[in-house]
Amino acid sequence: MKITEHILAAKGKTLFSFEIVPPVKGGNIQELYDNIDPLMEYKPPFIDVTTSREEFVYIQKEGLLDKKLTRMRPGTVGICASIKHKYGVDTVPHILCGGFSKEETEYLLIDCQYLGIENVMALRGDAMAAQRYFEPTLGGHAYAIDLVKQIKNLSEGKYLHESTDNNYAAPFCIGVAGYPEKHLEAPSMQQDLKRLKEKVDAGAHYVVTQMFFDNQKYFDFVAAAKVMGITVPIIPGIKPIAIEKHLQLLPQVFSLDLPQELIDAVCSAKDNIAVREIGIEWAITQSKELLVAGVPVLHYYSMGKSSNIEAIAKEVF
Ligand code: FAD
Repeated sequence: MKITEHILAAKGKTLFSFEIVPPVKGGNIQELYDNIDPLMEYKPPFIDVTTSREEFVYIQKEGLLDKKLTRMRPGTVGICASIKHKYGVDTVPHILCGGFSKEETEYLLIDCQYLGIENVMALRGDAMAAQRYFEPTLGGHAYAIDLVKQIKNLSEGKYLHESTDNNYAAPFCIGVAGYPEKHLEAPSMQQDLKRLKEKVDAGAHYVVTQMFFDNQKYFDFVAAAKVMGITVPIIPGIKPIAIEKHLQLLPQVFSLDLPQELIDAVCSAKDNIAVREIGIEWAITQSKELLVAGVPVLHYYSMGKSSNIEAIAKEVF
């Protein structure tokens, strides 16, 4: 089923969903299942699986450093297929511009179609660690909107290089990213919203937001998006703080503000066990307020570990 169909079928009831990260290359999928198992009790209609782009690594070889380009967490589509069939839930692979040519994207979408995966999240991806700015991959897309257009085309049976008479249409439901606190590269909030509207006009069916810790930021974002003419569902993304280091890391990586009350609580915690509890409590309060506001889905960033998401879901759903 498509995400938009799940939302319609819920008839105003808020759904629970979460995002997982593939294991590091050489890891075992069982670890993922062990994290997913306890969350299935809360009946997620869909689970997102992230994609990480390639990075340069330096390998010691005969006293020299060998520079290699490698993807550390491959397997997104395979994981989506295995979760879909093991648990009987829909899965949403994240598809990136960065690191993929248009042809590779088309093959990936065809794999999704054969595997019965009907939803995809279209993202640009970030710059590689070695780059200051995002640079499009040779033969790839520059912005998420271009990816949306390619997926939309395929949904209408238009392949990159039309070669057969009967191109089979693969009607995907397309999600895109939105930023309640503005994307870090956007020159203004208004401009970022205009870009979001362009993605929706190009064919995106729903939006999932970047994490935020102050619900007012989400409410203001949804209101501003409405004024801009964006009418698709805007799903809030929630991440519980888990370690003290997140106070520096999250603003730096995701360009967001943390409420002073949360910062004070984390700073006064005696260790990371206490920080984790504070993060869970904060996310529960956030979730309950969003639930009352009638958001379509509460979508949690699990970052590989599910026990804190389970603690939140237990209180909220
Ligand atoms: P875009 O929509 O392309 O926007 C990028 C920037 O360009 C914005 O500042 C926008 O305002 C601007 N812009 C857009 N169009 C144009 C244009 N035509 N001309 C000029 N400027 C323009 N990253 C991963 O690597 N893997 C993941 O699995 C992943 N999952 C994510 C899930 C969610 C819900 C979110 C919110 C983010 C996720 N990300 C992921 C991070 C994402 O890839 C980065 O935030 C990235 O920097 C931007 O992606 P985007 O799709 O929003 O890009």
